Amino acid sequence: MNEILKLKDKELLEKFCVLVREEKEATASVVAHLAEIDRRKLYAAEGYSSLFSYCVEKFHYSEGAAYRRIQGAKVYQKFPEVLELLKKDKVNLMTLSLIEPHLDQKNGSSLIHKILDKSKREVEEVLSELSLKKEKVQDVIRRLPVKNSAQNFTFTGESDLNKKDATAEVSQKGKKTSLEMSFSPSGTAVNPVQETRKVKIEFVADEKVAKLIERAKEVLRHKYPQGKLEDLVREAFELLLDKKDPERKIKRASEKEILRAERPQNDSAVRNGSRYIPQVLQREVYKRDEGQCSYTSPEGKKCGEKNFLEMDHIHPWGLGGSSTTENLRLLCRTHNQWRAERTFG
Ligand SMILES: [Zn+2]
Repeated sequence: MNEILKLKDKELLEKFCVLVREEKEATASVVAHLAEIDRRKLYAAEGYSSLFSYCVEKFHYSEGAAYRRIQGAKVYQKFPEVLELLKKDKVNLMTLSLIEPHLDQKNGSSLIHKILDKSKREVEEVLSELSLKKEKVQDVIRRLPVKNSAQNFTFTGESDLNKKDATAEVSQKGKKTSLEMSFSPSGTAVNPVQETRKVKIEFVADEKVAKLIERAKEVLRHKYPQGKLEDLVREAFELLLDKKDPERKIKRASEKEILRAERPQNDSAVRNGSRYIPQVLQREVYKRDEGQCSYTSPEGKKCGEKNFLEMDHIHPWGLGGSSTTENLRLLCRTHNQWRAERTFG
């Protein structure tokens, strides 16, 4: 730091120019290396389920910074010429991440050419002119303060929903119409804080989703005459989780003591050499692996991914491995695929 204090004004500015140039070159180099790490899926070997978690968890990039570098790497994979443009400051990570979703082999080179030396806003305008810019809408699930909050489920969509039971506000946003539906509180809940806490949920959906909601409303009219989205969504997600949530399945299984009842059947399935993995074994493995990807890197980094889990035979079934608790483990999709590629090529 003292060295900086000693610099004369001119030297300070010159030194800063050099540092910025080096920073840009280093960033371009980071992007190129990231692209190759992605191609070789090295993040999987290191114990991460995605390039994104590798960047955020291992290198402590902010989510935004990681996202922009990964987007930059994707552009570089398709159009390696962007590396020089990055180094020379003709494009930056922000502008590249804006155009990445719209690039294909047909328009790629010309689109990159169109954004040279342009700011974020100018690139957004370019995309808008090309009708490529998507409306910027983020999904929102926001806990409202416990006091002074209205029970509020807001559905914002580009569709013409049935407005009979809702207060609807139709506003014009550019060419698109957005519809907002708000519901007043039922006023019956007298429950603990978590139960009474109000949550605002907001998202944009396509026409298909709007139709599903409308249909569900009709079907459940007898149960929920008011047709409140809150009731419909609760019902829909309860049904979904009853069917798909492994934790609920385990709970149900132990409650009904299915474990013991299923055991003989499973043993015979295993003995018969079937690839089928009995539910009871799946539950045991899920419980033992705590519902997480069990992959651990040679350095001891455990993946721990809780989504997209698959059952893996440690000694591969195709090579004679059996469906036993000891030979089974949970892996996330990334690690299951990665492992299969390494085993079978
Ligand atoms: Zn994993």
